[in-house]
Amino acid sequence: MANRSSVIDCYVGLGSNLDQPVQQIEQALTELNHLPNTDCVAVSSLYHSQPMGPADQPDYVNAVARLNTTYSALELLQQLLKLENSHGRQRQPQQQNGPRTLDLDLLIYGDQCIDEPGLTVPHPGLHRRDFVLLPMLEISPDVDVPGLGKLSVWREKSVNHGAQRGDAPRWQ
Ligand code: ADP
Ligand code: MG
Repeated sequence: MANRSSVIDCYVGLGSNLDQPVQQIEQALTELNHLPNTDCVAVSSLYHSQPMGPADQPDYVNAVARLNTTYSALELLQQLLKLENSHGRQRQPQQQNGPRTLDLDLLIYGDQCIDEPGLTVPHPGLHRRDFVLLPMLEISPDVDVPGLGKLSVWREKSVNHGAQRGDAPRWQ
């Protein structure tokens, strides 16, 4: 990692349900680890879950990566959006939560709470979705969510999308 002053501990959620989702996630993990100014320090198992939005789409594969980065939150978001685009992500403005080759969400960025056009951190709803909460707790059982407290407290209250823990992803 480049020698910039403050290294921030953050979490990124990955999701895919199109065009070989496991490979999409594994490739994205490798790409995150190879981003300048960024190291991937922990990665969850792959989780298989049912779609949160329209039901007429394939099941999802999700994972969470813990990153150490010297990017600002906005710089990191730009990198995430660039990676989504390079995986052929297409957004249908009329359809929320529609199918996607790759979704990368900035879940937590250090202890910061950010609410700007285009960037809300912690990611709203992260504590309510089992396909985010379970992989986060797998890699960091004691994680605190700024503004919310211990994530583990939310475990029983999260919405059940049937997230099932699967294999460890292959990445480098
Ligand atoms: P979703 O992940 O909710 O399905 P998208 O991936 O299409 O939606 O993201 C839509 C927009 O959400 C992005 O263009 C981005 O600017 C914005 N956004 C706001 N906060 C975040 C965040 N924490 N992580 C990722 N995107 C975010
Ligand atoms: Mg997203």
